[in-house]
Amino acid sequence: MPLTATGYRWQMTAVGAPLERTKTMTFEARVGEALVRVVGCGVCHTDLGYYFDGVAPKHALPLALGHEISGEVLSAPGREDLVGKAVIIPAVTPCGECEACQRGRGPICPNQVMPGNDIHGGFASHIVVPSSGLCVVDEPGALENQCLRDSECTLAELSVLADAVTTPYQAIERSGLAAGDLAIVIGLGGVGGFCAQIAAAQGATVVGIDINEERLALMEKYGVSKTFHSKSEDARAIKKELRSWAAERGLPRTGWKIFECSGAGAGQDLAWNLLVHDAFLSIVGFTMAKTSVRLSNLMAFDATAQGNWGCVPEYYPGALELVLSGAVKLKPFVEAHKLDDIAKVFDAAHNHKLVARAVLVP
Ligand SMILES: [Zn+2]
Ligand SMILES: [Zn+2]
Repeated sequence: MPLTATGYRWQMTAVGAPLERTKTMTFEARVGEALVRVVGCGVCHTDLGYYFDGVAPKHALPLALGHEISGEVLSAPGREDLVGKAVIIPAVTPCGECEACQRGRGPICPNQVMPGNDIHGGFASHIVVPSSGLCVVDEPGALENQCLRDSECTLAELSVLADAVTTPYQAIERSGLAAGDLAIVIGLGGVGGFCAQIAAAQGATVVGIDINEERLALMEKYGVSKTFHSKSEDARAIKKELRSWAAERGLPRTGWKIFECSGAGAGQDLAWNLLVHDAFLSIVGFTMAKTSVRLSNLMAFDATAQGNWGCVPEYYPGALELVLSGAVKLKPFVEAHKLDDIAKVFDAAHNHKLVARAVLVP
């Protein structure tokens, strides 16, 4: 007799139409899946894109959105070891078997599963997901709503690890960043702020660049050693000042690791213009804007540019440990709300009225 649960989803029925709470329904996991009681689900820019801007999710409407999810495994046929465990569900779970997965490139797996896009998401009491990628949070008190180790966060708040923290974590892992490196983060918003914290936690000296003065001042408290206001200084001036600042401190003059997290044309131009010899440029943010660059700079500088899409489940435990150990601070950047307030929270997030990332708690 398979274990089932009854609950509800908050569903999107059409672009901008009122979100609807379903009637009581039954959730059940098949072999290879896990039935998870949702503890928290973060509200991401991507959700707002589906709901307000008409970006089409792959699954037909109605659909529950939400892909930054933490919860408790109630059943997992074939993976009984997971039952009763607190988990974080990866924003994207690759199939593990296709050509891309075999090459270790899970983020481009054509069979990947993303809650709130390919399947019903985490704005619900329960969710059924692939059991293969789940990241176990093996900490006392995880299921009792307690703060976990040195994170100052509950399991619900840890939900935003999926995506907001793991995406820059993968970008940093792939860049080969090491202690003593100089890391430059452009755009210190949701993703970029964590990118700066992770780089600092891994021993890099971090330079933060943003158009928002308050954001720059805030991030100086969270691992950013030097800031530049990109509206008041041009790329050439920033690069010149950065060179002499780095030289004074005995920091590397070459091999800078540059993370473009603003997802804006101007940010990408700036990132390109900061290339030095042996630089590594990671494009983490997305924009439709086009930019004109001299590609031969890569050749002349013997430099590398790479794109980063999402994060493979294998990196989740490492990212989780940075937060649990207190090396990366999540707490000041999240705020919990009731799931039943989802409409209000979506509006507030859409109108940029939220300072922190919202987590919805059933
Ligand atoms: Zn997201
Ligand atoms: Zn695959």
